[in-house]
Amino acid sequence: MIQQNLFASIWRTATVLLLAVALASPLQAADVASMSDREIQSVLDEALEMFAGIDQGANADYIPALAEVDSDIFGIALVTPDGRVFSAGDMASEVSIQSISKVFTMALVMEEEGIDFAPDGVGVDATGQVFNSIVAIEQYKGAEMNPMVNAGAIATTSRVSGDSRDDIWNRILDFHSRFAGRELEVNEPVYESEAATNQRNQAIGRLMYAYGHIESNPDQATDIYTEQCSINVNSRDLAVMAGTLANGGLNPVTGQTVMSAENVPEVLAIMATAGLYDDAGKWLYRTGLPAKSGVGGGIVAVSPGRFGIAAIAPPLDEAGNSVKSQLAIEYISKKLGGNPYEVQPVESE
Ligand code: GLN
Repeated sequence: MIQQNLFASIWRTATVLLLAVALASPLQAADVASMSDREIQSVLDEALEMFAGIDQGANADYIPALAEVDSDIFGIALVTPDGRVFSAGDMASEVSIQSISKVFTMALVMEEEGIDFAPDGVGVDATGQVFNSIVAIEQYKGAEMNPMVNAGAIATTSRVSGDSRDDIWNRILDFHSRFAGRELEVNEPVYESEAATNQRNQAIGRLMYAYGHIESNPDQATDIYTEQCSINVNSRDLAVMAGTLANGGLNPVTGQTVMSAENVPEVLAIMATAGLYDDAGKWLYRTGLPAKSGVGGGIVAVSPGRFGIAAIAPPLDEAGNSVKSQLAIEYISKKLGGNPYEVQPVESE
């Protein structure tokens, strides 16, 4: 055990050093707006080459089907508001979207009800606990959390309007598809695998019902939530979804308005607060980017007005975030000047 920990910490140090060396290289951070397509593409290629060999982390296995996914899948894609799509690595493999779906179902409820449903209900604060924490629910009886953790997400899914389960489901799937710019489908084996083993999420759903955050039928809410987590996506899909958020809700590839620009800042705020669970603070500190991860290995991140970026690589760190996807997005965003908090000082006379 001690040896394993030592090994893990040597790996962590090596990875951090690699990133530090890479970011100290002479190519200065530029602004993506002034970079040529070739320059942007070469940054993605560099990231792929630099991080592909890292074999830190492990596939999620608490959902049995996720343990079977090829750990070597590694794809990175970036979409600009003017609709240019860049990619490096594997664009063909699809993985289940998992928790990244929490962002889009939350956005759908904001569109239906307005932005106050979360602060008035499950909350908009980081829990500092793992994503499926029951302690976090107990602390404030299902409030003071957020829609990016399972409890808040299942309660959020329960609010999507519809006359029947099919109706609700179709609205959710259609909304995700419009973000991706193509008709997405469910990974049935992943859905079945999680549905057969998600007793903990069922308990979370019922607890949120007990505390009044789900009005009726908590089991249906958990089931639909499980299905939304099983939507299949590739890296390009995720990047187009992120690019749509980076472009104020207008899909830069299809030209379709998917959500109102007015509600996008609140979506991004919640991603920034809790998108990488209990490591959201560390991530924001390093990148400044609102982002969301999923246990399938995907991460989406948004540099508002500049680009949406995504990566897929199934092995996860201890917080449940893809090791390689984090490294790739952090590297690329720094090279492209993606951190929204970074400004060039204006000198006054
Ligand atoms: N479906 C997964 C779960 O509920 C999603 C978790 C995740 O991606 N963090 O456990």
